[in-house]
Amino acid sequence: MALIVQKFGGTSVGTVDRIENVADRIGKFREHGDDIVVVVSAMSGETNRLVELAHSIDEKPEAREYDVLLSTGEQVTIALLSMALNKRGISARSYTGTQVHILTDSTHNKARILSIEEKKMRTDLDKGRVIVVAGFQGVDEHGNITTLGRGGSDTTAVALAAALKADECQIYTDVDGVYTTDPRVVPEARRLEKITFEEMLEMASLGSKVLQIRAVEFAGKYNVPLRVLSSFDEPAFASADTSDKNADGSNGTLITYEDDEMEQALISGIAFNRDEAKLTILGVPDRPGVAYSILGPIGDSNVEIDMIIQNISADGTTDFTFTVHRNDYVEAKEVLSKVSDELGAREVVGDDKIVKISIVGVGMRSHAGIASKMFKALAEEGINIIMISTSEIKISVVVDEKYLELGVRTLHSAFGLEQKV
Ligand code: ADP
Ligand code: ASP
Ligand code: MG
Repeated sequence: MALIVQKFGGTSVGTVDRIENVADRIGKFREHGDDIVVVVSAMSGETNRLVELAHSIDEKPEAREYDVLLSTGEQVTIALLSMALNKRGISARSYTGTQVHILTDSTHNKARILSIEEKKMRTDLDKGRVIVVAGFQGVDEHGNITTLGRGGSDTTAVALAAALKADECQIYTDVDGVYTTDPRVVPEARRLEKITFEEMLEMASLGSKVLQIRAVEFAGKYNVPLRVLSSFDEPAFASADTSDKNADGSNGTLITYEDDEMEQALISGIAFNRDEAKLTILGVPDRPGVAYSILGPIGDSNVEIDMIIQNISADGTTDFTFTVHRNDYVEAKEVLSKVSDELGAREVVGDDKIVKISIVGVGMRSHAGIASKMFKALAEEGINIIMISTSEIKISVVVDEKYLELGVRTLHSAFGLEQKV
């Protein structure tokens, strides 16, 4: 018997039939003797529909009201799933983020969880109830509804698992685990049995939306055993022993700390991000404080900067390039044009048709030549690299968006990711 937090994403609760399937699955875990806390997302497409509704009224809706609206999607699914469970004789109770008391800060639209009251949940669990909690939402100290950022139900699940010291947090989705890259782009991608928190964090930060970044951060920090599984496969009873496997081995992907048994691959996965745009300010008079004069105003307008490159100055001027989210491109360009006038720079140019492709792996630490292998593979396909950035366990390149699929496939095969190592 184990205490398991199970999170079901939008596709897994996308129709009434699928909600009924989820209820059947939970029933099997209850029969197995497990205590279950469920976190659900809104039905697939619902959050996007709500976003569009808001934007049809106001391009920049007030953040507080936006959260009130967006949080409604999850309220529908907790109620429907609880009805389906109760109909099956499985005692269940639904709770919104406010009711279960997921206290967050007041940063609307991307609030951070501060604490969770576990007492109420314990009382329900002791009574043999399944608890169904709305993902993606919380409440701030003033009683305002907050949301945790897109994909935030993953974080709700991990935070509940941490608060309850659950034996495992299972993230059920429409793929049966974390793959070497998005299987929608590379059908030959291979499911990983295990991946380290560190690698998963890089993959998520670099664009793999299979898990929200904060969920991985949280799980790593509080040592929550985290598993990604398919909601369409037969249940695998992970129990307290997280190394358990289903007969067919389909126990998804375990996100864990590095251990000796882990595959010694150089590269674990390839992530990509289609949401990038780049801006360059050319011919900036080079003097101390220039980077601050350029990036300060961008930061002040709440635009997050990703990669940054500054050229060495040959003639007393320098060029400065950085990337931002595509949604922020127009605003960042306007801010930069003003900065350019103030600094007496030559010109501002930009491109919002770029993407970032990254290779990730802890194996990189102890091996040389990975970068040159990556650049060679891209060169052989005639893919021009626009920007490069590296860290201890990742190498990212920015390329024209038309090369996204080709670039990812090329690197996937160059590093032999489709084969079992
Ligand atoms: P949910 O609605 O269940 O939260 P998401 O759409 O957020 O599901 O995440 C699942 C999707 O993540 C998959 O359908 C897949 O296309 C995508 N994905 C991106 N990168 C990966 C990866 N490396 N491994 C598995 N899935 C990935
Ligand atoms: N429903 C929210 C979204 O679509 C949260 C989630 O699904 O995790 O982003
Ligand atoms: Mg998701």
